[in-house]
Amino acid sequence: MYLLSDSLQKVPGIGKTTAHQLAQLGINNILEFLLFVPNRYEDRSHIITIDLLQIEQIHTVKARVVSVDERFKAQKNKKLRITTAIIEDDTGRTKCIWFNNRFIKNNLKIGEEYFFAGNFGSYYNFTQPVVESVKLSTAHTGRLVPIYPQTTKLKQGNIRRWLKMIVDDLEEAEDGLVKDHQLLNITTALKQLHFPENEELVIKARERLAIEELLSLIDLSTKIKSSWQERRALASPAPLIHKFLKANLASIQDAIPSTVPFTLTNQQQQALFEILGDLTQPWPMNRLLVGDVGTGKTVVAGAAAWQMAQAGYNSALIAPTQILAEQHLQTFRNLFPKLNLTLLTSKTSKNSTKKTKNSTINTKSPTLFIGTHSVINRLDQINPTPALVIYDEQHRFGVSQRAISNQLTTKKQPHVLTMSATPIPRSYMLTIFSHLELSLITQSPFGPKETKSWFVPKNKHESAYQWLFEQLSENSDQKLAMVICPFINPSTEEGFQDIPSATNLYQQFSKRWSKLLKIVLLHGQQKPAIQEKVIAQLFNNEVDLLIATSIVEVGVDLPQANIMVIEGADRFGLASLHQLRGRVGRLGQDSYCLLFSSSNSAESKKRLGLFAKENDGLKLAEIDLKNRGPGNLFGLEQHGFETLRFASWNNATLIKKANDIYQSLTNPRQSQQYTFLFNQFCSNSKTDTNSTVQN
Ligand code: ADP
Ligand code: MG
Repeated sequence: MYLLSDSLQKVPGIGKTTAHQLAQLGINNILEFLLFVPNRYEDRSHIITIDLLQIEQIHTVKARVVSVDERFKAQKNKKLRITTAIIEDDTGRTKCIWFNNRFIKNNLKIGEEYFFAGNFGSYYNFTQPVVESVKLSTAHTGRLVPIYPQTTKLKQGNIRRWLKMIVDDLEEAEDGLVKDHQLLNITTALKQLHFPENEELVIKARERLAIEELLSLIDLSTKIKSSWQERRALASPAPLIHKFLKANLASIQDAIPSTVPFTLTNQQQQALFEILGDLTQPWPMNRLLVGDVGTGKTVVAGAAAWQMAQAGYNSALIAPTQILAEQHLQTFRNLFPKLNLTLLTSKTSKNSTKKTKNSTINTKSPTLFIGTHSVINRLDQINPTPALVIYDEQHRFGVSQRAISNQLTTKKQPHVLTMSATPIPRSYMLTIFSHLELSLITQSPFGPKETKSWFVPKNKHESAYQWLFEQLSENSDQKLAMVICPFINPSTEEGFQDIPSATNLYQQFSKRWSKLLKIVLLHGQQKPAIQEKVIAQLFNNEVDLLIATSIVEVGVDLPQANIMVIEGADRFGLASLHQLRGRVGRLGQDSYCLLFSSSNSAESKKRLGLFAKENDGLKLAEIDLKNRGPGNLFGLEQHGFETLRFASWNNATLIKKANDIYQSLTNPRQSQQYTFLFNQFCSNSKTDTNSTVQN
């Protein structure tokens, strides 16, 4: 019997190594494993007879093994193991083929019956089908089968097998919401999430888990709000900034130095006004600045840091990646050349000796420290402690506040400004983010932007690349095309094989075009030195074609970029696609986004077609919601301000329901003891939410 709090190693087959690999995905116990949400489900419940098999379709058959054969073929310096099996049912015979599968030959017993599920290929045989004995309660065949986010080290089949063992023997948790609110029991919901009996139950399960998620968020927000109010600002910049604002600001534009080569838009001015207003208060600011990609949040945040420096205070800016930290450094150097800047990265701290790691960083004059998340752990070393902490593209709810409070030995709290490109409707902010003040920028400085977007079916991929090549060779100085791949290396996992990988495309295109175009590769597994070199080339405008993973999603700003191709586009949520598309046409120039998909499903064609027609992030989020259904991604927002696994920012009904339930749970007259199941995972300070995607 498994308890939600049990350790993973209780599961047969999960040893130290696997537990460690799961921990890297933020999975440390049974509950966290159960919250590893399938991307989609593959319907392998329709079992057909062999005579009805059609090529290039996913099928499941129930058949007996007639014969098994294994041979080896020399392939470069390796040996390729090829296993084939003839299987039959009452309607006919067919062949299965596996490559480099060491186990399959011994596992198949002649004359025994199994489920075989997988793609029935154009050569009229099953390629690499999944096999399960009909005697067992199945996990991989004969049902709606969960497909999990691709991970580097763990195999789909293993994840599924472990979760099946857990789900089959999970202790029923008591659930106070079932009776009063007509919801699925939480344990049932977790079971159905992974191994649903039918499609409706997936929706019900997701609803129950979404409510739980929202309840935990509302609870956390309420708690942060009250503890925040109890604290006083670390420094009290109020008098100085206040005086400065009064004396010098004819208009808010004067809050930025003349080195900034443009005038702030009205909305940027308004946001800056609100932020500076907060900085004059004796309590710590906790403000969220929301604006779609390219709306110009950086200069607003920079102006706040600039003003803090004028008043004599240090600040810190936390970027989600090393690349972005370096880019911010560059940007601020240009916009605010008189501001002292210091790059603090994990690299800096790794290279430094223990002694310097623990030593204090004294500043002679006010400085803006820029770095990745590791800066948070070093805040206490900076002297004086930064009085303003800015988060760019913050990922996890409440992490900033908690992480900062945990780090600082003093009871005082710096001002916190969080920036986000995830569109969140204002009314929901009041419910779920009651602890945050909100500033909004809705218009880009360059006016409304339309990136022309197309869904490109598989048979047109080649001609689209030809078009891209012509575009780039015409006038390559002001142009940069980016090709985004979901994977770094080719994937051998079921369902992923047909998607080109970044390394493959890079080799392929280099062979074809490297004489005429400068082509570079960028992904998260490259050595930092190589990444740095590539980034320098990009910033110096030396590159024509960038092949990358979604590493560019979180804010790499290359204004000259005007064409984007997204390979395996159906693997991304609409929110992620929108973020990616926001990377081109940053200067308001003509820009294009081509969505490549090799999926034949009508569902994904429709979804990508809708995306191509819609440029508004909020509307896209709504579409994602409407199109929910098994086999589709459920508003799984991998990036952006908040990673919601189950709920969606745009589901007003659900948010209202959660809030009503929360009020009734915390109402002192009928207060129940309710354990918010997700609290622990919402406040989990691991920040790398991308770990399930290979960046
Ligand atoms: P984001 O909100 O996505 O962080 P950025 O701050 O990177 O957007 O701004 C996008 C681009 O717009 C940058 O190149 C920036 O210099 C430019 N920009 C920002 N504000 C203005 C403005 N008021 N006028 C002209 N260009 C601006
Ligand atoms: Mg930005």
